[in-house]
Amino acid sequence: MVTKNRQFLLAKRPIGLPDESTYNFVESDIPELKANEVLVRGQYLSVDPYMRGRMSDAKSYAAPFELDQPLNGGVVGTVIKSNHPNFSEGDTVTGRMDWADYTAIGGDQLRKVNPDQAPITTALHVNGMPGLTAYFGLLDIGQPKEGETVVISGAAGAVGMVVGQIAKLKGCRVVGIAGSEEKNAYLINELGFDAAINYKTTNDLRQALKEACPDGIDIYFDNVGGEISDAVFSLLNFHARVPLCGQIAHYNDTQVSMGPRFLTTFLKRSILLKGFIVTNYEGRYEEAIKDLAKWVSEGNIKYKENIVEGLENTPDAFLGLFRGDNLGKQLVKIS
Ligand code: NAP
Repeated sequence: MVTKNRQFLLAKRPIGLPDESTYNFVESDIPELKANEVLVRGQYLSVDPYMRGRMSDAKSYAAPFELDQPLNGGVVGTVIKSNHPNFSEGDTVTGRMDWADYTAIGGDQLRKVNPDQAPITTALHVNGMPGLTAYFGLLDIGQPKEGETVVISGAAGAVGMVVGQIAKLKGCRVVGIAGSEEKNAYLINELGFDAAINYKTTNDLRQALKEACPDGIDIYFDNVGGEISDAVFSLLNFHARVPLCGQIAHYNDTQVSMGPRFLTTFLKRSILLKGFIVTNYEGRYEEAIKDLAKWVSEGNIKYKENIVEGLENTPDAFLGLFRGDNLGKQLVKIS
């Protein structure tokens, strides 16, 4: 039985990649509960690229993490004690909780997870935030039609894998871009992608894309940005759509990076590029969760998890996202 609460506090805002000086790993007492709060013991914690943005204090859609306060993110865990009428001891719940063994959190910020329906970890990916991101970005902005070609960067990660599988369900030709042979073999052999390109080993990404997309590109689901997107943009068809989901290639930049300017192409080809944040769609989560859960239970959406053991290894699991360690969703098993 754990009697202390280990937690990671933000010690310093990183410049470039975070390192050990970014965090303080401390032990404190298990938090006391206020009215309507629930004490949750975390089981699995999600590390996500957007957390890099919250470590800095630049203006963004999510509030920065506070210095000397716990970092937080998606967690699935067990209710240990409850002062909230909707939750009882033993319930499995998910919500935004601390990088810690325990979090005291308002019950209104938690959602119950049914452990008999799907493995509880899926609440942090295919049946959770990354799945919702893929769903709304592709279906609402991408508007895929049968026979169209969809290209996905960051294709072998939590969001990218789901995008590709939904695009296959919609009858599209799907081409992934990812950083290893193992990842690309999985995309083709297990998930049914039509082609996959290793951007780290190809000499000419644009040419490789041209060969993989003989009819041009109708939808580019961008998780990455940088030179990968530069290579894709010039191959976009008339009336192509670009759901701009992420720019992980730039999250640790210390200077604004410049690249080819493609806005004339976007103008001439009437291309739609739309940045989005999954929370824009909060009012429609229920509809999406239902579809995703159905596709997952029917085996139409498969998934992979990369699980690092031990809360103490969370910072390295987070850095692994930028090294490309993860095939599928990167999680941390807290204890
Ligand atoms: P993920 O893809 O599971 O993990 C990140 C992957 O990005 C790594 O495995 C790595 O794979 C790739 N990567 C890292 N640095 C790269 C670089 N410099 N160039 C090319 N690829 C790089 O992460 P995720 O959770 O699914 O998120 C994917 C993207 O969506 C991120 O940009 C994230 O910020 C964004 N996102 C946006 C929303 C939203 O609401 N808009 C919500 C969730 C996620 P390789 O081996 O292929 O390099």
